[in-house]
Amino acid sequence: MARYTDSKCRLCRREGSKLYLKGDRCYTDKCAVGRRAYAPGQHGQGRKKISEYGIQLREKQKVRRIYGILEKQFRDYFVEAERQKGVTGENLLRLLELRLDNVVYRMGFGESRAEARQLVRHGHFTINGKKVNIPSCQVGLNDLVAVKPSSKNTDKFKDLAENSAGKTAPQWLSINSEMMEARVIALPVREDIDLPIEEHLIVELYSR
Ligand code: SF4
Repeated sequence: MARYTDSKCRLCRREGSKLYLKGDRCYTDKCAVGRRAYAPGQHGQGRKKISEYGIQLREKQKVRRIYGILEKQFRDYFVEAERQKGVTGENLLRLLELRLDNVVYRMGFGESRAEARQLVRHGHFTINGKKVNIPSCQVGLNDLVAVKPSSKNTDKFKDLAENSAGKTAPQWLSINSEMMEARVIALPVREDIDLPIEEHLIVELYSR
């Protein structure tokens, strides 16, 4: 599957805000958004005026980049969010939050969603005891996401578990750090998603 391999900091600079794509570095003064607060490229410091369409487009790109999703798949998420009952924008964010790679990231494994995705791809996680290596797999209510038994005793996972200890877990996840597992005890609601996103702009964009 195609994926973006260029500089991650470039994406933040393009969106004009921190997307926290690089883990610890994002919290230091090495962050490129702080050091070069303008869009990348030849015209990055040029014209600033942006149309309504441009604002909506940028919001969609921002969310896509935060969760590391390509255009086609993102549109599929939107179609599914529209099909579900409730507020489309919130449905969309819930679907994204319940991706397996994001759940692993929320459990504290991985400095970034990209790292969490790689851990999933390498087959280190199970859902309800069954090995799953598809990052986009949707986790459901009451599902148990856990580190695979044979991975638990590796130095890598001991380090990851140690690093995850200081991180704050969302309320919809019940985490058992000792067992390296987490259960989805509620579906995430908008207030649980601590990202500076105006999802209504994405709905407006796709409703054009
Ligand atoms: Fe974005 Fe992190 Fe790079 Fe800053 S350091 S520009 S937040 S990826």
